[in-house]
Amino acid sequence: MQSAEKFLQYRGRFAPSPTGPLHAGSLVAALASWLDARAHRGQWLVRIEDVDTPRTVPGADRLSLAQLAACGLHADAPPTWQSARMPLYRAAVERLMADALAYPCACSRKDIENATTAETPRPRHAELRYPGTCRDGLHGKAARAWRLRTGGAAISWQDRAAGPQMQKVEDAVGDFVLLRADGRFAYQLAVVVDDADQGISHVVRGADLLDNTARQIWLQQCLQLPTPQYLHTPLVLGANGEKLSKQNGAQAIDTSEPLHALNQAASALGLPTQSDTVEQALAVWTAAWAYAWMRPEGQVQAT
Ligand code: GLU
Repeated sequence: MQSAEKFLQYRGRFAPSPTGPLHAGSLVAALASWLDARAHRGQWLVRIEDVDTPRTVPGADRLSLAQLAACGLHADAPPTWQSARMPLYRAAVERLMADALAYPCACSRKDIENATTAETPRPRHAELRYPGTCRDGLHGKAARAWRLRTGGAAISWQDRAAGPQMQKVEDAVGDFVLLRADGRFAYQLAVVVDDADQGISHVVRGADLLDNTARQIWLQQCLQLPTPQYLHTPLVLGANGEKLSKQNGAQAIDTSEPLHALNQAASALGLPTQSDTVEQALAVWTAAWAYAWMRPEGQVQAT
């Protein structure tokens, strides 16, 4: 599926979920990942993450691609859609099942809520901590999902922006879902399979996904896939201090004024905003990004 030699060159990606048009927060992640790829003289890919079909909004994929193009953020290869890659995800789950790392679970959400203390609100892609009820068998019940055994391992990694990280997945979320009974693959599985299959060497995305990273690294280890480098950018908050998201109605970026939209994203990344054109701004920011994030002594905050 993957090959280690793909990592010899820089390859980054932006991976929007087509649950609505891109908003100011998504543009920060898009711009940061584009700049990191350009600063490394690497490739930048766009992947439409449409595995979570009930939340997919028809046309949001095309709109997002048009928004990126209007902002001058062009990918180095045609975009990919996760919905076209199901056989890859199935093969990965089958491998985990064969290795007894994935197991069927009969618990409903209510069962899990009853067995754990639900924390609200939970960040994007967060799950209720699963207490391991079906780890030793279904006891005659029907499977609703397949979960990954998390073991007790503590996952440590170095985030290029957030610094050293450590998470015991077992304590944070427990054995997490890979595949639901209705055939939907979980984000965690699809993102890990795709990052490896596409040879992604560097992941640059919003800080709201920082706490998902340990799950993804654990899954990479279970599938014997390489771990990319991670950089989680600061979150863009709305006027009410809440994280902007498509779910809470964040406004689509206005691409009739791409420089304005890009300047807002650049300010969130601590980059200067004095350029007159999109082309000039992207060139200035690429140089500033390289200076801030690619120094040999480590990673210096861009602000
Ligand atoms: N599709 C994910 C989202 O929009 C982002 C995944 C990623 O960058 O790893 O939440």
